[in-house]
Parts: sequence; structure tokens; C-alpha cells
Amino acid sequence: MTHVIDGNAVAESVRDDVRAAIDDLEAEGVTPGLATVLMGGDDGSATYVSMKQRACEEVGIDGTTVEIDPDEPAEALYEVIDDLNDDPAVHGILVQMPLPDHVPKREVLSRVDPLKDVDGFHPENVGRLVSGNPRFKPCTPHGIQKMLAAADVDPEGMDAVVLGRSEIVGKPMANLLMQKADGGNATVTVCHSRTRDLAEKTRNADLVVAAVGRPEMLTGDMLSEGTVVIDVGTNRVDADTEKGYELTGDVDFESAKQKASVISPSPGGVGPMTITMLLYNTVTAASLQSGVDVEL
Ligand code: NDP
Repeated sequence: MTHVIDGNAVAESVRDDVRAAIDDLEAEGVTPGLATVLMGGDDGSATYVSMKQRACEEVGIDGTTVEIDPDEPAEALYEVIDDLNDDPAVHGILVQMPLPDHVPKREVLSRVDPLKDVDGFHPENVGRLVSGNPRFKPCTPHGIQKMLAAADVDPEGMDAVVLGRSEIVGKPMANLLMQKADGGNATVTVCHSRTRDLAEKTRNADLVVAAVGRPEMLTGDMLSEGTVVIDVGTNRVDADTEKGYELTGDVDFESAKQKASVISPSPGGVGPMTITMLLYNTVTAASLQSGVDVEL
């Protein structure tokens, strides 16, 4: 029997822990605050921002959104970030990507106070993660670690293949899986668009994390019996629906399920975990900044 991970259920149980931690902070007079900055992007960006806002409200985080006209110069964004860095009521800052072309992304990520960098993309936090002393684990791979733990999958000793090497998913996922720590200790191979014979890599894997952004690219014939499969992909494909599209993952769910021992679907898998881990990191940030210990 293949175990299909219910990302919503795992996310809800992590949110219970987050709520309990918020209660402990509130008891000491601390309300965690998250500021999201939106400068441009597409409909998807605006939707993600409002989903994050709703999720904050739902657990008791003070969520605010700052919108900047995408035609403004980069300095307008820097000023907003500087103000948020100085605001003691704001514990976490998230700058929604993508940014307009004239705004240098690396500059922006470095501008956020590393103690408020709940995305974990500031070079200091990336360095801490790589050196094995993470402060904020990036939300998507962190959520996957939680999902695996909830499904009783321990990556220790496994041959893990990560498909994709982006800064936000592939690289930090590979790092977390290879850490000498709980949820790590795997032997990790990272694949990308220049990888030769990808199927040979995935067929030899015990665990595959697919984060390529190619609809249903990973098929059952590329997997061995008993593989654990995590689908990060969230792709819009044309469909005869009200919106004219539907969301699908990077994994061909039906054929992969025939081979997998454990599989996360998309939608309904990693997606709900990502926002949940943002809440988790915001609470961690509030705890670090206020000195109030919480259990997470
Ligand atoms: P990127 O486009 O930044 O990275 C994609 C990676 O996949 C790159 O490393 C690229 O290689 C590699 N790749 C592309 N095509 C192939 C191929 N044919 N064979 C092997 N590797 C390939 O994407 P992201 O990491 O940002 O996102 C990946 C997917 O995950 C997307 O569908 C995205 O929507 C989704 N996502 C979902 C989240 C969630 O919360 N559920 C959060 C974040 C992302 P190269 O480096 O050589 O170009």
C-alpha cells in the first residue's frame, strides 16, 4: 500500500504547535509580527501574499502587507525594508518574489535584517544553513523535512535525489538532507537541466524530491519499487475549468504511485507546508528577538 501524504493534515498539526508557541509569547506580552512586501509580480504573487496574510490572522500573527508601485526605483524598496528592520513590532520580513527587473534581487535579500529573514535567503542565513548551524530553514525544504518526519520517513542512509538546484528549493533541500542532524544524513545527488541520464539517477534513489517546474516530468518508469517521492512542483496547465487552467505537480502521480512507498501529491502536499513554515519561522524570529523561549 502506498502512503499518500496529506500535506494539509501535517500542516495543521504543525500549526497547532505554532499556536501553542504564540500563546507562550502572548503570555509574555509579545505578539509575533510578519511584514510582507509586494512590489510587482503577477496575479500569483498577489494571491500568495493574501494567502500568507490570511494564514497569519488564523494563528494569531500580526500580518501586514506593504505594497510598492513596481515602477518605483529600487531605493523605495530599500527604504521600506530599512523601516521594517527598525520596527520592533515586526519580527519577520518577507519580500515577495519576483521583483521588477530593475531591482537587484541579491541586494534586496542582503538588506533584510538577518534576524528577521524568515525566508532564510539572507547570505548570513544561507551560510549558517550550509555550515550546519541553521537559524531559519527556508520554508519549502523545511516543510518537506517535517512532512517526511510525519510520514515516518528517516532519510538517514538513504540515497536521495533532488531534482532542481534553485536557491529556494533545490539547494537548501539538498543541504538539509545531507546535514549531520535529524532529518538529514542522506547521501544526496542534485540534478538539473544539464544532468545526463536523469532516469538512471532517480531509479537508483530511495528518496526523490522533484522541484523542476515541469508538469508531470517524473514518471513511474523512472522510479524503483518502494521509493519515497516528494512533489514540489506547482505548474499551471491549460484546462477546461473556470479559470482556464489547473495546477499540477512535477510528478505524474498515477504512474509514480504504482512504484512509491510514500508519495506527496501536488496540489495538497508541499504547498500547505510552505506557508505553515513561514508562520513557524516568524514565531522563531519573535522568540529570538524577544528572548522569550518557546517550544517548536
Ligand atoms: P526554478 O525554475 O528556479 O528551478 C528549476 C530547477 O529545475 C533548475 O535547477 C533547473 O535546472 C531544473 N530543471 C529544469 N528543467 C529540467 C529538466 N528537464 N531536467 C532536470 N532539471 C531541470 O524553480 P523553483 O525551484 O523555484 O520551483 C520548482 C517548482 O516548484 C515549480 O513548479 C514551482 O512552482 C514549485 N514551487 C512550489 C513551492 C510550494 O510551496 N509548493 C515553493 C517553491 C516552488 P538549471 O538550474 O540547470 O536551470
